[in-house]
Amino acid sequence: LVVLNEVNKHYGDLHVLNDINAVVNRGEVVVVIGPSGSGKSTFCRAINRLETIDSGSITIDGKLLPEEGKELAQLRADVGMVFQSFNLFAHKTILENVTLAPIKVRGLSRKEADKRGLEMLDRVGIANQANKMPAQLSGGQQQRVAIARSLAMQPKLILMDEPTSALDPEMITEVLDVMIGLAKDGMTMIVVTHEMGFARKAADRVIFMADGRIEEETTPEQFFTNPQSHRAQDFLSKIL
Ligand code: ATP
Ligand code: MG
Repeated sequence: LVVLNEVNKHYGDLHVLNDINAVVNRGEVVVVIGPSGSGKSTFCRAINRLETIDSGSITIDGKLLPEEGKELAQLRADVGMVFQSFNLFAHKTILENVTLAPIKVRGLSRKEADKRGLEMLDRVGIANQANKMPAQLSGGQQQRVAIARSLAMQPKLILMDEPTSALDPEMITEVLDVMIGLAKDGMTMIVVTHEMGFARKAADRVIFMADGRIEEETTPEQFFTNPQSHRAQDFLSKIL
């Protein structure tokens, strides 16, 4: 579904993506892990073209990422993104947050969008909060709304960049449980996270990045029990 071929990107002298080659198949869950500044967010953001690349190519469903215009809007509609900060519209209700893009971008009627929105809120376990405002929800609930909002667009792929790292510990599990559920349902996901439990339970593969390179790419089992590269061993000794 997603293919990165010899992707390079620089910020001035900093080689932030260095000859990145990666393939993510339909239905796969790939966890991206690595030290701060290794390029994980840039990798994700390049895939829905929130960042441009200097060389190489990225294709989704066999099509090169569009540069601009209608096709770029289409790409963004097909590739969901969930960030560390939930970025909900503060002055809209939970249901409105979830239905806005399906109505505007997918052309659903309000009725259809409400129906789908409620289904998605139900899927993340908060259909009963539909008419509240974001500020009335806990962080964990807000992040689940952000996931529901992504799902309501029926994306081909969801990118998640440290979706639980802004949450209080007691709220992390409820979000991880939703993510594990999506993974089991066959959603294609690229997830930047240091949550080993999620990687172990849900990931098909782990990509370990360091200094803009993919240092290691393997199963979660292999990565956590028997990392091959020194960088990965060093990293794991610090976080485990
Ligand atoms: P973290 O774990 O801290 O989120 P990361 O692996 O996601 O780190 P990136 O955010 O991809 O890392 O950043 C990689 C490198 O690129 C960092 O050194 C960062 O300072 C640099 N960088 C990121 N965005 C920019 C930018 N817009 N301009 C200049 N440098 C940037
Ligand atoms: Mg990051």
